[in-house]
Amino acid sequence: MSKYWSATTRKLTPYVPGEQPKLTKLVKLNTNENPYPPSPKAVAAMQAELGADGATLRLYPDPNADRLKDAIARHFTMHGITPAHVFVGNGSDEVLAHAFQGLLKHERPILFPDITYSFYPVYCGLYGVDYEQVALNDDFEIVAADYLRPEACKPGGVIFPNPNAPTGLLLPLAEVERIVTGNPEAVVVVDEAYIDFGGDDIPTAIALVAKYPNLLVVHTLSKSRSLAGLRVGYAVGHPELIEGLERVKNSFNSYPLDRLAIAGAVAAMDDVAHFDATRKAVMKSREALIADMAKLGFETLPSAANFIFARHPKHDAATLAVALRERSIIVRHFKLPRIEQYLRITIGTDEQCLALLAALREIL
Ligand SMILES: *Cc1c(COP(=O)(O)O)cnc(C)c1O
Repeated sequence: MSKYWSATTRKLTPYVPGEQPKLTKLVKLNTNENPYPPSPKAVAAMQAELGADGATLRLYPDPNADRLKDAIARHFTMHGITPAHVFVGNGSDEVLAHAFQGLLKHERPILFPDITYSFYPVYCGLYGVDYEQVALNDDFEIVAADYLRPEACKPGGVIFPNPNAPTGLLLPLAEVERIVTGNPEAVVVVDEAYIDFGGDDIPTAIALVAKYPNLLVVHTLSKSRSLAGLRVGYAVGHPELIEGLERVKNSFNSYPLDRLAIAGAVAAMDDVAHFDATRKAVMKSREALIADMAKLGFETLPSAANFIFARHPKHDAATLAVALRERSIIVRHFKLPRIEQYLRITIGTDEQCLALLAALREIL
């Protein structure tokens, strides 16, 4: 605490990201990164953008990243999406931050699940947004009816991840739609960071955007496109919601995406073959890992994401996490009510999954 800090800074409780260890020997299964490299076409596009002498970096990037908006709209044309429906930002965390400030902050409290992405209450603290946490049911599911309130106590907004984090559970699209139609006066943000791992036919709420002016769907290139280090995220919604986000963005940072990020992200969005091959490999490894963990006595929630959420009825989760770390494997443990006996484990390569299983066998 310093006397030079503003009153706002004094009151902040910042988000604590999963550890990014300096050691490279570790099997890193703690922050849901993709185990496969990004599209080679994305890498080539970034190298081409840089050129031999880096001269392009003298110049500012396109503040609107129009090429990227075009590529994202192209990807979702079957849902009636145009570039005017697309907002892009420096990671989806930045897109979410602008949504909290520009769309969710109103007189009434917003709603989000009690067990969810722990950045949401942090943004509420930063922007002064009141919130109410809605309990998941005993099976850790989001219950749509709990987000439908009588007229006198409608929320100022709603946000939830789908699949939820850190549970990995998917809310069916019809239930997402119930929440959207039940709150026509408020924005409903669906944070689909993991949706591409939800099945061969991706159950994205972007399919509903053309129907509802109050729905904003947020995606990231960090997980299913293996570009966590590049920092690119986007939102898809009615052009008036997008305009609101642009107003906030242009009052904060005109150039959130640099030249390399725009070039790499365009190529990554266009390389559907690489995207499909890698996300399907992750889904396949996930099902194998869940089955192998069950043989060791673990109970795992059904996951639609690139991680699993698992507990062992006879072994303390915190102790397991420490024992794994001693064997150079890092997973995420949240010391929070209801979930303190669970471990969140990112799906690695098959080799990494085998290393995890071998270590667990030894520990148990
Ligand atoms: C990883 C994650 C994000 C953030 O992704 P970035 O684009 O890397 O900022 C947002 N929401 C959820 C639920 C996530 O798990």
